[in-house]
Amino acid sequence: MDETLDPPSFDELRKLGHRMVDDMFGYLEGLRERPVWQPMPDEVRARLREPLPLRPQGAEQVYADFTDLVLPYVTGNAHARFWGWVCGNGTGMSMLAELLAATVNSSVDGFDDAGTHVEGRVIEWLKTMLGYRPEASGVLLSGASMANLVGLTVARNNLPGHDIKARGVTRPLTVYGSVETHSSVRKAVQILGLGTQALRTVPVDAQYRVDVGALEAAIAADRAAGATPMCIVGNVGTVNTGAIDDLVALADLAARERIWLHVDGAFGACAALSPELRPLLPGLERADSLAFDLHKWMYFPYEAGCVLVRSDAEHRAAFRYDAAYMAPNTRGIAAERGQQFTEYGPQLSRGFRALKIWMGLKELGVDRFRSLIEQNVEQARYLAALVEAHPELELLAPVSLNVVCLRYRGEGGLDDDRLNDLNRELLARLQESGVAVPSHTILRGRYAIRCSITNHRSRRSDFELLVHEVARLGRSL
Ligand SMILES: *Cc1c(COP(=O)(O)O)cnc(C)c1O
Repeated sequence: MDETLDPPSFDELRKLGHRMVDDMFGYLEGLRERPVWQPMPDEVRARLREPLPLRPQGAEQVYADFTDLVLPYVTGNAHARFWGWVCGNGTGMSMLAELLAATVNSSVDGFDDAGTHVEGRVIEWLKTMLGYRPEASGVLLSGASMANLVGLTVARNNLPGHDIKARGVTRPLTVYGSVETHSSVRKAVQILGLGTQALRTVPVDAQYRVDVGALEAAIAADRAAGATPMCIVGNVGTVNTGAIDDLVALADLAARERIWLHVDGAFGACAALSPELRPLLPGLERADSLAFDLHKWMYFPYEAGCVLVRSDAEHRAAFRYDAAYMAPNTRGIAAERGQQFTEYGPQLSRGFRALKIWMGLKELGVDRFRSLIEQNVEQARYLAALVEAHPELELLAPVSLNVVCLRYRGEGGLDDDRLNDLNRELLARLQESGVAVPSHTILRGRYAIRCSITNHRSRRSDFELLVHEVARLGRSL
């Protein structure tokens, strides 16, 4: 008998699978009663340090290990009171979609494959959803970090007068963004061989928006010094405060200077699907490339990011390659019937990310996402109002969208250094209590408790509880 990884019959695994599905829906139903997060005990950590298993342990045992060693100690972003960093929750349907995608196990490279056609449709829907250029091309990626890298790569590889794919970077190129630009853009600049020194970070105004005049001056100075300005990065929803750059001014500047405009809209771009919020992001459609995530403010499970690029020709030119084994045929599977996604980004083998998005959008309809995004913005405003009305709390930044930065300040009289120490300790205790998980940042030297509300499970009462706990912990310190 030839061997296979399949068991002689799937009966046992099927039973276990049914139990897993029951357990996981039970887990989702019971989330509110669980701590948002709890630290992994040393004993559990020790059990995880298991040597490479050479002998079978069996499916039942492995699942028991998952429920004992993994499930209780995850970050907790599925929970209604998780507001740390920028994380989505996931949904019941998308959990099932991941099961289906893993079952067929397609590598969505291109050709005449249902996965390719589904992803193509998803890209069309996402353009419509965000009101982005109908002629644009796009590709699903692991997240906005990759989407920023791909956007910047398209900008770099299409620079007129340079042949970067063949010759590499032979002359100094520069990239512009505000000081609030996400660290993934810095990474992208480094990966692209430009060097961090090529990234010009420009100051922001009181609303944490890029100072367009300073950006313009930086471009002029670089041109005078012989550099080639390659790309301006605009932010729609900065990670620290959710600030939105003036994209109209940036697009005008980019057009005047003939520089590529890439927009990092990791979470903020999703506000575009609400007619009520869309006016907060004028000029979004003028981006030459647009990066955003589906695993943040669209609540899909990791990983799901997307980059849209103004023209298919430029997008593909940046990544297209010749390989006999990937050349299209006229018929058969390799007939080029859909997009050849391997020519739109760095990956060859690609997961079937599109399935959970395709199924999720069809299941619920975009209107449902719209109202949840609007609800999150209202919740951010509600939280901000609770903080402002509280004598012992204060906001540390204006609320543009869905990010609220606050701190405990007590009755007054404590200087910033004391308050920084106090709020750092307060946040650690809050997270360790399992009641809520905001994260932190530093704004103009002040340590902030930062709530990023990309959570479809949060209710108003959760924010009341947060304010109550922050004030209570603050007093106890
Ligand atoms: C999260 C985030 C990124 C990076 O996205 P990933 O999906 O984590 O790769 C980039 N920019 C901003 C503004 C973000 O919030």
